[in-house]
Amino acid sequence: MVASAFQKLEKIGEGTYGIVYKAREKNTGKLVALKKIRPESENEGIPATTIREILLLKNLKHSTIIGLKEVIHSDDKMYLVFEYVETDLKKLIDDFSKQHMRFHYEIIRKMSHQLCTAVNFCHSKNIFHRDLKPQNILVDHDFNIKLADFGLGRAASIPLRQYTAEIVTLWYRPPELLLGCKYYDSSVDVWSLACILVEIYTMMPLFMGDSEIDQLMKIYRILGIPTEKDWKGVETLPKYNKDNLKHKKMGFAGIIKDPKLEALVKKMFIYDPLGRITAKEALEEAFFDGIEPIYE
Ligand code: AMP
Repeated sequence: MVASAFQKLEKIGEGTYGIVYKAREKNTGKLVALKKIRPESENEGIPATTIREILLLKNLKHSTIIGLKEVIHSDDKMYLVFEYVETDLKKLIDDFSKQHMRFHYEIIRKMSHQLCTAVNFCHSKNIFHRDLKPQNILVDHDFNIKLADFGLGRAASIPLRQYTAEIVTLWYRPPELLLGCKYYDSSVDVWSLACILVEIYTMMPLFMGDSEIDQLMKIYRILGIPTEKDWKGVETLPKYNKDNLKHKKMGFAGIIKDPKLEALVKKMFIYDPLGRITAKEALEEAFFDGIEPIYE
């Protein structure tokens, strides 16, 4: 079925859920991304819940979300057919950095605004991502962004390692998940989004931890250690340890020189998930003044 309708061109990436190929749709000649979803284990099929969630994604239509064109499900294998997008934010930042280039301020605002719009749209449909990172933010030649992998986060548990044993990055993970909080909501995506907005601005990941504890330490170094005063219940979370902070809180001085961006991300980096601003509120911030809202 897949072989007859598509010509596989090359492997373009490996995500959390399987291999992604660039392919050409034979009857239209259009380029697509074919994502092969791997089963949880060798002799099991794709769980029914995953299939149901994925079918829901077909109705998630917005200019800032990658369009799912088709779901092909046969012989226990499942392929998702997406529109093809030239690059992703990680590759784009790497390419720019290699040439010692940064994004223009208006491009930073445009991409940041589209990202907040995308996340707000998904949250308004009660879908959250849980694993937002530059690798799953696709970018076209005009710096328009399209989110990939939305909704899959709810369909399957996030494995610690990818298909190829590559470790899943912790850099965008919010403190509530790192501290072992069992209940969390869409505010997890707002944290990841804030890390990504800073990265678009500085061209460097903000918190580059290499273990869960190191990730927390990197966060504490800039934002200080959270206490009951900022976040009720934090000191009772399984992995909370008051002795963790040995350094003075640094803040964003020297990292973000734009006061409007700093004001925005500070609200997105509020420790208490209930106090963190929503993606919808983020869109109202002064950093985005003068940018037209994106309705569809
Ligand atoms: P993902 O599983 O969505 O994280 O995808 C893994 C990698 O495959 C991404 O980092 C992209 O480089 C690439 N990729 C995913 N979806 C697409 C797409 N629709 N068009 C082009 N490349 C894609």
